Amino acid sequence: MNGLHLGFETYALHGNGTDNEPHHANRYPVYSGVAFSFGNAEDMELAFTYRKPAHAYSRITNPTVENFERKLNLLEQGLGTIALSSGMAALTTSLRAVLRRGDNLVASKYLFGNTYSLLKDTLSPFGIATRFVDFRDSGEIEDAIDGNTRLLLVETISNPQMMVPDFEKLAEIAAEYKLILAADSTVTTPYLFKAKENGVHVVMHSTTKYISGGATSVGGAVVDLGTYDWSQCPALAKYHKYGQGAFLARLRMEVHRNFGSCMAPQSAYLQTLGLETLALRVSTSCENTLALAKFLKERKEVAAVHYPGLSSSPFHGVATNQFNGHYGGVLSFELAGKKEAFLFINSLRLIRRATNINDNKTLIIHPASTLFSDCTAEEREEMMVSDGLIRLSVGIESLADLLDDINRALSALV
Ligand SMILES: *Cc1c(COP(=O)(O)O)cnc(C)c1O
Repeated sequence: MNGLHLGFETYALHGNGTDNEPHHANRYPVYSGVAFSFGNAEDMELAFTYRKPAHAYSRITNPTVENFERKLNLLEQGLGTIALSSGMAALTTSLRAVLRRGDNLVASKYLFGNTYSLLKDTLSPFGIATRFVDFRDSGEIEDAIDGNTRLLLVETISNPQMMVPDFEKLAEIAAEYKLILAADSTVTTPYLFKAKENGVHVVMHSTTKYISGGATSVGGAVVDLGTYDWSQCPALAKYHKYGQGAFLARLRMEVHRNFGSCMAPQSAYLQTLGLETLALRVSTSCENTLALAKFLKERKEVAAVHYPGLSSSPFHGVATNQFNGHYGGVLSFELAGKKEAFLFINSLRLIRRATNINDNKTLIIHPASTLFSDCTAEEREEMMVSDGLIRLSVGIESLADLLDDINRALSALV
């Protein structure tokens, strides 16, 4: 395959993970064991001093996990990828590696709830402060930046608001202030969002979602796209000698090793399987989502539909430029209030009432009473989570069946 320029789908299937599987198995097996033996003490020393790559202990590296990391890295065109036990572990580990006590980051205020809580409640006692901004306003972003700001963090499509940051603008700001531009691309995956081409330096994934192949296992990953000059990152001072590899070196040799949130080999196997069909599943779910968004928009019971695929969305143009002709597999819409939202949700017979997104199955949730139930009414308003808001994560079922189910539930409202 060397020297061939292949399409995304082809790389997803044939792209080399590791070439060291002794039986040349077409599907890389699960190495579920913990420790790996060495022929002699010298080789062991070389491995432990990072002079000769070798697997020693599965918390740090494992062949099956490495196979997944290399495949995902190929699809992201990254410098290196580290798989972790969950999307939250990917965020925690990577942020902890590049931020010291006294540093701060500027983050979108429209974030996955646990990420918001990680920044606000969990990282702040370590002396890492977050300034939350509305990323639609470049002035607000720049006002939040000071001499200790190291990183900008956004999600490629926020949920449940379905807002899309303009990465061209963010990349300009990051370049001007020498900040790391980090993006959580969970909902877009490398199939929809070419993070590197869009100026992102570090991309994080909850591979639990699309990549896992249909909610098969919890997982996460962080990819260094090889585009940031790590000599500008004080938290990596001890690792500057690794040059471009400084971030990955600190992750692998210290933060990931010590935090210990490694991906299980069994999960890596399932997630590698998921990568093979990623393009098919993402395309179908995005097509279904666009059709449902258009259908909902025409219904008088529906006060608003939020989906960047609709030409009426203020994010349509930016999304069209950034996301490979698709707009994601999640939409949200508003009914009159909580009573109507509950009645609608309870009237569905096919669509499942469940949290999670980018499953193969269509899932529905009422964000205000679940994901955002910790927040005050003011906080919910600030995050644009109204009492009538419903989030729909659209799967790959027959579109007609989804339309029937939604139509039936809307009829229950009158
Ligand atoms: C689900 C999710 C996470 C957290 O991932 P887990 O795998 O559940 O830990 C982070 N970011 C986004 C955008 C998510 O959707």
